[in-house]
Parts: sequence; C-alpha cells; structure tokens
Amino acid sequence: MKWHTLAVHAGTEPDPLTGAVMTPVYFTSTYAQEAPGVHKGYEYSRTHNPTRTALETALAQLEGAKHGIAFASGLAATDAILRLLNPGDHVLVSRDLYGGTYRIMRRVFEPWGLKFDFVDTTDPAVVEAAIRPETKMLWIETPSNPLLYISPIAALADLAHAHGIRLVVDNTFATPYLQAPLEMGADIVVHSATKYLGGHSDVVMGAVMLNDDEDAQRLRFIQNAVGAVPGPMDCFLVLRGIKTLPLRMQKHSENAQKISEFLATHPKVSKVYYPGLVTHPQYLLAKQQMRLPGGMISFEVKINSIEDLKNFWKSLQIFTLAESLGGVESLINHPAVMTHASIPETERLALGITPGLLRLSVGIEDADDLVSDLKAALQRL
Ligand SMILES: *Cc1c(COP(=O)(O)O)cnc(C)c1O
Repeated sequence: MKWHTLAVHAGTEPDPLTGAVMTPVYFTSTYAQEAPGVHKGYEYSRTHNPTRTALETALAQLEGAKHGIAFASGLAATDAILRLLNPGDHVLVSRDLYGGTYRIMRRVFEPWGLKFDFVDTTDPAVVEAAIRPETKMLWIETPSNPLLYISPIAALADLAHAHGIRLVVDNTFATPYLQAPLEMGADIVVHSATKYLGGHSDVVMGAVMLNDDEDAQRLRFIQNAVGAVPGPMDCFLVLRGIKTLPLRMQKHSENAQKISEFLATHPKVSKVYYPGLVTHPQYLLAKQQMRLPGGMISFEVKINSIEDLKNFWKSLQIFTLAESLGGVESLINHPAVMTHASIPETERLALGITPGLLRLSVGIEDADDLVSDLKAALQRL
C-alpha cells in the first residue's frame, strides 16, 4: 500500500456492529463478561480499549512495525522504554535533545540507577569511543531538538548491534512519513504523538513502535502495570490526525524550505539550522535518510540581550509564541527560556542554545504570509 492510502486506512475498518466508517470512541472503563473470564478480549480499559487498539494498529502500520503501543504522553513512552533497563546499565544519548527527555534521564532515572552520557551522535566514531561494557542502549533524536542535527541511523544501528546495544530513535520531528528508522535497523521508535501524528495541537500522547516480541511484551506489561495510557477520545483524535499526515508533512516541508531560504539571506539572522539547506552540515545525509526535511527550523538572531526581542514578539501576527510543535498552525519558541530551560545554562550555551536562538514550528498556512510575518518582526529588532 502506498503512503497516502496507508495513512487514510491504517487501523480503521468499518465497525462490525453498525458499519460506522469512523472508529467509534469507546467511552467505557469495563466490559460485560458472559461468565467469569469469558469475554470478547476486553476486560478493563487500562489494559485494552477498542479505540486504542485501532490506533495502536495504525501506529504499527505507519512505522512498518509488528507492534504499536500508545502512552499518555511522549514522556510516558520514554519512561516505559527506559524501564526495559536495569540499575547499573549505561545509556548513550544524543547531546542535542528534547529538554523533557534530558530531564527524565537526569532527574528520574539517574537517581534510580541508570547512567547516561550525552554525546555527539552525528559521528559514529564518537559514539563508539563512549561505549562501555555496561552500555545497553543508544538513544538518538534525529533531526534533533532544537538544532536539527542529523544522526546516521543505519551506521549507528550497525555499531549498536555489533556491541549488543538497542538503538532507540525519537522520530517525533521526522514522523514515519519522512523517516523509517526500523527499516534502517533501529530497534525501537518513540514518538510524541502530541506533535505531528496528532497534528492539530489538541492532544497529548506518546507512542512506541518495534518489532522485537520480547521487548514488546515487556512494554505492554509496563503500559498496563504502570497505567500511563491515553483515553479513547485522545486515541480517536490521533487516528483522525494520521489520515492527513503525508499531506501535512509535504506542506510543512514546502513552507519550511521557503522560510529557511528567506532567513538565510536576512541581515539580522546570523545562523539558520534547517536540514533542507545545502549549508546544513548533514544536508546529504538528511537527503538520504529522510523523504523531505520537515517543518522545524531554528535560527539565531543578532541581539545583545533577551530584552531586544521584546518588540519582535509583539510584532508577530501569525506565528504564536508557544511551546510544542507539529500542529497545522505556525508556532515560535525561545528555547533558552521555554522548552530547554531545564538544561543548565552552561550546558545550553555549550550546545549552541544561545539567547538569540529561536525555533519555528512551521505550519501549513500560506508560505508568503509566514515570510511576511517574520520579515515585519525582524525589522522591529
Ligand atoms: C514533545 C517531545 C517529547 C515529549 O513528548 P510529550 O508528548 O510532550 O510528553 C519527546 N521528544 C520530542 C522530540 C518532543 O518534541
């Protein structure tokens, strides 16, 4: 099945009871049993819910995975994956990373006994040098947040497997339409479905897709035992979002390409990070492992202090100043103050998350309107 067909039909069959074309939202916590233990596969909605089952089937199909498992948020999904490890295990992680992933690793799982090293995963030699006998997982984000670095998935999968290490890829920025990590050898894919999979900024959810039966069984056990599950309405919203995923990603990418080219020539912009620009250090790798460069751009403006941005924010008419990303509407974020504030300042600066760094989640509005909005705001700097 080709992508546009898959996105529309994944996980959704007309309802056997009524013929309803759209998956019903099963608002129920429990299910009647004919006799004790005799039921239709559903006992209690923490364990199973038919709307969630439809979504999990769709999620697996999108990533070309055997298993899809939905969680209450992207971080609940991250939490479940890290629980596959044992105290004493070591994890290598991309240095440029979603702030919440950094926080759960450093402040929840480090005290619990896991060890983490944050390294430059764009270079397999750097990763190899950091592997220890107790290294059990390699966790990469590509493209990364907020600096859009690209890590070579196939090369890192080979390296990880040579050392008996699982490769986890956070595929949130790319989505399964733009990048297929499992096909390139990754073991586990994690998503914040809050972002492009949902696509409309109206739901918080996470997802894990994988092929390994043993890890999948353990993750399902954790899903039920810990209970960080999404409700049926949220599952319905993400199922609906998925139907337009390829259409949206094409428009997000087309708009982001135009905006990044505009920013690259602007005198008040000192740096643009976008994998679709030939000046991006991993432009060729991005072209190889991604269908399109996606809708996220970061750029640095020339300012002396954060105060200089005051009029810039006020001028914006279409871009909304907000955290999060991946919705149909364009958002702008100030990583140093907003999404990446949980990373200590010295580490932030060392990474390149400077006070003048701005991150755009480019929506699906008209590209000319978006460029005009930024142009006017940059004039107020
Ligand atoms: C948002 C995000 C997460 C966390 O997901 P939530 O749904 O907010 O819990 C993880 N990784 C990336 C890349 C994200 O953007």
